Amino acid sequence: MRPDLLILGGGCAGLSLARRLSSAPGQRCPETVVLESRQAYADDRTWCFWSEPGAQLTHLVRHRWPGVYVAANGIVANVDCRAFPYAMIPSPAFYGESVSMIGKTTQIQLELGVSVLSEPIKAGKEWHLETTAGTRSARMIVDTRPPGPPLRGEALLWQSFVGHEIESAEPVFQPDLAGIMDFAPVRGGRILFFYLLPFSADRALLEVTILAEEPLGPGVFHDEMQQFLTRTLRGRAYTIRRSEHGILPMGMPQPPAPADPTYVKAGVFSGGARPSSGYAFQRIQRWAKDCAKALADGLPPLPHPRDPLPLRAMDALFLRVLRHQPELAPELFLTLFQKVDSARLIRFLSDGGTPLDFAAIISGLLPGPFLRGAFSALTSSRPP
Ligand SMILES: Cc1cc2nc3c(=O)[nH]c(=O)nc-3n(C[C@H](O)[C@H](O)[C@H](O)COP(=O)(O)OP(=O)(O)OC[C@H]3O[C@@H](n4cnc5c(N)ncnc54)[C@H](O)[C@@H]3O)c2cc1C
Repeated sequence: MRPDLLILGGGCAGLSLARRLSSAPGQRCPETVVLESRQAYADDRTWCFWSEPGAQLTHLVRHRWPGVYVAANGIVANVDCRAFPYAMIPSPAFYGESVSMIGKTTQIQLELGVSVLSEPIKAGKEWHLETTAGTRSARMIVDTRPPGPPLRGEALLWQSFVGHEIESAEPVFQPDLAGIMDFAPVRGGRILFFYLLPFSADRALLEVTILAEEPLGPGVFHDEMQQFLTRTLRGRAYTIRRSEHGILPMGMPQPPAPADPTYVKAGVFSGGARPSSGYAFQRIQRWAKDCAKALADGLPPLPHPRDPLPLRAMDALFLRVLRHQPELAPELFLTLFQKVDSARLIRFLSDGGTPLDFAAIISGLLPGPFLRGAFSALTSSRPP
C-alpha cells in the first residue's frame, strides 16, 4: 500500500487517531500506515481521568471511584465525586480494542516491530523516511514519537513515578476510595506523593510520584515504595502482579505551528499533556477525534490545540509556584481540594472549566499559600 498518511508511533496517540479514522466511512478514511517499534502490546499502564460528561471511551472503563482523598500534613480532604467518578482504563482494554478496530479496516495497516530511523524529509509532494523495514513515503505524517530522552530544563517540572499493581493475601483495601495525592514532607526540592488505586479488597495499584526539576529513573523510588508497601499492607503478604514507570512533562513548550501543515507532531510531549497535571489520555482522545475528522474531510492533520489563554496563564503560574516554592505544594493541593466545589475543580482539571470555575479556584486559593508562592515566583530573579 502507498499510504496517504503515515502515523509514527502506535501508542496512545497513534492508536487513538487510527481507531478514529477506522470509523470514517469508506472513501473518507485516508490510506494509513501506523509504524510502531514494539513487537507486541503489554499491560504497561493504566489511564485514569474524571468521567465528566465529555469523557471519551468510557465503555473501556474497568473501575470507577465515587470518592477520592488528598492528604497532607496530617490532614485528609475527602472529595465526593459520585457525579464525575474517577475512572480507570487498563491499557490492554484500549490496545486490544484499537488493534481489533484497525484490523477490520482495509485502509489502515498497523505494522508492529518497525522503528523509524530518520527524520522525515520532503521531496516534491511526499515525505520520505527510513525505517527498519526500508524507506517509507506518504503525503502526510503525524509523528507521535517521543523527542528523545527527557532532560532537565525541557519542562518546568517533570512528573516521574513508579507503580506496582499488587495482590494482598488478605483483604486490606477500600475499593470505593482512591488516594490521588498523599504527600510526604518535601525534601531537597522534590515534591513526593503516594497514589493508591484500589481495584478490590485485595488488589491495588500503589504508586510513588515525584515532581522535580529533573526527570527520575525507576531506581530512585525504591525506599519510598518499600515504606508505602509496608505502611499500606501492615505486614500482610503480597505479590507484585506488574509494574509501571513513567516520566511526564509538566509545562513543556508546545511546538510552534507546523511550517508545513502536512507534517504534525502529537502526543504527550507535543501538547498532549495538561501542563499542570501531566494527564493526557482524554486530551489525546479529543485531539484524535478532531484530527480524524479533518483528515476524513480531505484536510491536513491537526496538531493539539493551544489551551485557552486563562488556562495557560493559570497553569503556568501554578507550575512556577511549585518550582520556586516546592515546600508549599502539599498545602496548596490540600487547599484546592478542601475549598473548591468538586464539580468545579473536576471541570477545571478536565480542561472544561468555565469562567466561574476559574473564579472559584482563584478565590479558593486566595488568601493562602498560592498568593505567597505566586508573589515570590513572580518577583524572583530565578528563570521560570
Ligand atoms: C505508566 C504511565 C501511566 C500513565 N497514566 C496516566 C493516567 O492515569 N492518566 C492520563 O491522562 N495520562 C497518563 N499517562 C500519560 C499519557 O496518557 C501516556 O503517556 C500516553 O501513553 C501518551 O501517549 P503517546 O502516544 O504520546 O505516547 P506513547 O503511548 O508512549 O506512544 C508513543 C509510541 O511511539 C513508539 N515509538 C517510539 N519511538 C519510535 C520509533 N522510532 N519508531 C516507531 N515507533 C516508535 C513507542 O513504542 C510508543 O508506542 C501515563 C503514562 C505512563 C507512562
